[in-house]
Amino acid sequence: MKKIFSYISTALLAVTTHAASADDSIKLYTLDCGAVDVADMAPFDNKGRFDGQSIVLANPCFLIRHPKGDLLWDTGMEQSLADTPEGIGDNFHFTMKRKLTDQLADLGLATADIDFLSISHWHPDHSGNAGLFAASTWIVNRTERAFMFAEEKPQGHEDYIALKDAKTLQFDDNYDVFGDGSAVITSLPGHTPGHSVLTLKLDKAGALLFSGDLHIFAEGRKMDAIPTFNFDAEATVPSLRLFAEMAEKEQARVIIQHEKADFDSLPKFPDYLD
Ligand SMILES: [Zn+2]
Repeated sequence: MKKIFSYISTALLAVTTHAASADDSIKLYTLDCGAVDVADMAPFDNKGRFDGQSIVLANPCFLIRHPKGDLLWDTGMEQSLADTPEGIGDNFHFTMKRKLTDQLADLGLATADIDFLSISHWHPDHSGNAGLFAASTWIVNRTERAFMFAEEKPQGHEDYIALKDAKTLQFDDNYDVFGDGSAVITSLPGHTPGHSVLTLKLDKAGALLFSGDLHIFAEGRKMDAIPTFNFDAEATVPSLRLFAEMAEKEQARVIIQHEKADFDSLPKFPDYLD
């Protein structure tokens, strides 16, 4: 009898799980992939308007669950950082509460379950765990990928190297991930050679536009601040204009990925936006 009861419970659980996944809505989960305490914001504006100021930045990863598959947008800092509670770094001090893979496991997901991976750009706070997703299909701007695997690798960064052999979809201007316009990745270069942003359209929440690092904090966006460490400051200018036009056209809620207020405004994991 006990065995039968346990069988029925399992069957019921399976039905419930199936019902949840058969739900056609697109869901956005915001994962906490670290935080950055910046002692001096000088590097964030090549006109020096934030020199000497400090800020605490968020460092999220985003999981988009679509009936056609799961898309991970950015992978955060390399997750062994969570084993060092006091954090690392000086002017940019990085900390992490929980590993990305542990957060995915809360949803019953292993890295191999993620169908599509895309990163806004190669910097270590966005591609830290990218190599863990080599079983996914990597959607990447052609120029960014070429830069990532150039003879002289940028800053000797290694966390994404396993992506070299991943199934890869390269694009030049933009890419519609699910073919229905619900998740479109658009190249807005300058921060890095092939830096990209993501437009997401949700049934209830409407359009969201994820900045990558085209904008780094809300005040900087107001004055179109260009970081001193951008790959190409000149190329960033038209990208800033296009981003503003995209936000206007879609009436999109802009998510500046490092802006803590934007991070805090999104449902706290494992809650989601749909
Ligand atoms: Zn960043």
